[in-house]
Amino acid sequence: MSNIRIIRIHNELLGTYGDQGNAEVLAFRAKFHGIAATITDVTYEQSIPRNGNIYLLGGAEDSAQLLSLEALRRENNLQEAIADGAVLLAVCAGFQIIGQSFWANGAKVEGLGLLDVESNPGGKKRCVGEVKARCSILNLELNGFENHSGTTTLGSSAQAFAKVSSGYGNGDGKSDGAVLGNVFGTYMHGPILARNPQLADLLLTRATARPFSQIEDPLASSYASIARKY
Ligand code: GLN
Repeated sequence: MSNIRIIRIHNELLGTYGDQGNAEVLAFRAKFHGIAATITDVTYEQSIPRNGNIYLLGGAEDSAQLLSLEALRRENNLQEAIADGAVLLAVCAGFQIIGQSFWANGAKVEGLGLLDVESNPGGKKRCVGEVKARCSILNLELNGFENHSGTTTLGSSAQAFAKVSSGYGNGDGKSDGAVLGNVFGTYMHGPILARNPQLADLLLTRATARPFSQIEDPLASSYASIARKY
């Protein structure tokens, strides 16, 4: 693969928590690995390209989350691309959207069903703060920042993305996110790929079916090591 196509979905709606930076990190690291990368922003009005290699959904307030879901429901391009092996990273509101159902603005809505998880209204207390969670796929403790009111339970066929060591994650302080094949859901903002560049390399590996040797990016390493302290 000579060019990796990164599709950033509804950044104007799902950009509240800085998750748009995940696309920049992927493109930067792809270039480090000698692969050209293009970032395509898809807005609420536009159709989602079918030929992406990595798709990204970010976090948002409930109303923006509902608008994004409405647009995603107009077509099956994302689901078809995933079925063909494309990679999806969905953060917080995005993670809830790709589950079976979630609550927004006091009502339960059906999600895209790409992951067997259900999100429900949390208690009065929002889950806010630093989160650390061990990802068994990478054999690494990841870290991020969370800010959500919804909590998520894993269905019988769902596998947690990471095991929480501090923070709330899915709300129970035990698991964070869910993963199925190349579909990754998590509550970790940061952006997560800036704080954990190894995860960016995993997504690139999955998208290109090509293993990458470790690269040293001093700025990424110092950011990750500062973030790990909190
Ligand atoms: N609106 C959702 C919630 O509060 C998602 C928030 C987010 O994306 N940070 O649970």
